[in-house]
Amino acid sequence: MRHTSTGQTKTALGLHVCPRCSSPLVQPTCWEQAGDRGHWRLWRRCPECEWRRDEVHGETEIDAFDEELDSGTRELSEVLKTLAHENMQYVVDTFTAALDADLITADDFS
Ligand SMILES: [Zn+2]
Repeated sequence: MRHTSTGQTKTALGLHVCPRCSSPLVQPTCWEQAGDRGHWRLWRRCPECEWRRDEVHGETEIDAFDEELDSGTRELSEVLKTLAHENMQYVVDTFTAALDADLITADDFS
């Protein structure tokens, strides 16, 4: 088990670093969009000490985490892309339904 001797602050730690054992191998296990755009609820797990947590993070933190994961797995970014695609499909479906229901007319585009 590793211990931190340096006085690093919590904010200096990336999402890939375990706050309990300082392992840099923390992996995302699950995530979902949290409320507004650019925020995600992220479930993380440390493979070394079985630490787990779910927290909502902003896009900046997620991006940094994604960069760290790039060296290992590209899983996170792939899933985020899939989610973005699904969201887009939802918008298209909603738009099509609105057209079908005559809620949107050609006048809306003039
Ligand atoms: Zn750990």
